[in-house]
Amino acid sequence: MNIFAGKRGLKMSIKSEVILGYSGYCKAGAHHAVKGEPRGLVKFHALWAIIKHPSEGLILFDTGYTSRFHTATKSWPNRIYARMTPVVIDPEDELKSQLARLGHSHLDVRKVIISHFHADHVGGLKDFPNAQIITSRRAFEHTLKTPKWRGFTKGILHDLIPDNWMERLCIVEDNFRPIKNKYLGEGRALFGDDSLQMYHLPGHAAGQTGLLIHSTSGPLFLIADACWDIRAVTEGKLPNPIVRLFFDDWNAYLTTIESLRDFHLHNPDVKLIPTHCQKTTDPLMR
Ligand SMILES: [Zn+2]
Repeated sequence: MNIFAGKRGLKMSIKSEVILGYSGYCKAGAHHAVKGEPRGLVKFHALWAIIKHPSEGLILFDTGYTSRFHTATKSWPNRIYARMTPVVIDPEDELKSQLARLGHSHLDVRKVIISHFHADHVGGLKDFPNAQIITSRRAFEHTLKTPKWRGFTKGILHDLIPDNWMERLCIVEDNFRPIKNKYLGEGRALFGDDSLQMYHLPGHAAGQTGLLIHSTSGPLFLIADACWDIRAVTEGKLPNPIVRLFFDDWNAYLTTIESLRDFHLHNPDVKLIPTHCQKTTDPLMR
């Protein structure tokens, strides 16, 4: 079965070109990312995707870090965030600069899909003032109701979010057609065709979503932080339970991993791409 055919099989030929890149990184304990790994540090790159859709133009999925992370975490209490996850970002690596080197202005981006509002996913959001901000209702509501002073405890730095974000918001559940996937449950087909499909991947962060893409280089599923290391899905190697403290809902996280495992078993041709799994993403860099 072609997962992009849906009920509107005629549209399945629509494909987007996808360019993946990193903007900055932080370091995390290898033994935290995967329980039982030897102690040491692994880089958590902040991955984004530029999606060139044939009719919708330039779309971004997440936006990486920018140097604004450092300004947003200069003072108390956000400084705690920077201490726990020291971030390295070279201005040349920011998504806006990388887009320019690819010949695109940041002002031409009309749509940014945000998987969830953690700082490594929304760091560049302020650089795309002409873009709609597409996200799930829960991700939006959770960010809205989290007070600024304790946002850092949820991985949210309000200073990274544009002041007019509410006017530019496009809640995925209110604007796009529902679709169903046997393993992933209800999703949404974006922009009137089945070539970009958003699914809920709850657990790590409130309202987290992933994007399944019919891409010119094959089917890709950007699964954000549904797992950090792909072996959580392929080999059942889960993070150290200590990270529960930073998760929205540990049981939902485990259920999401199960769904992804089932999906992967039945759709082995779809490349699963976690944001921070360098072994997965390095070979996909241009
Ligand atoms: Zn992340």
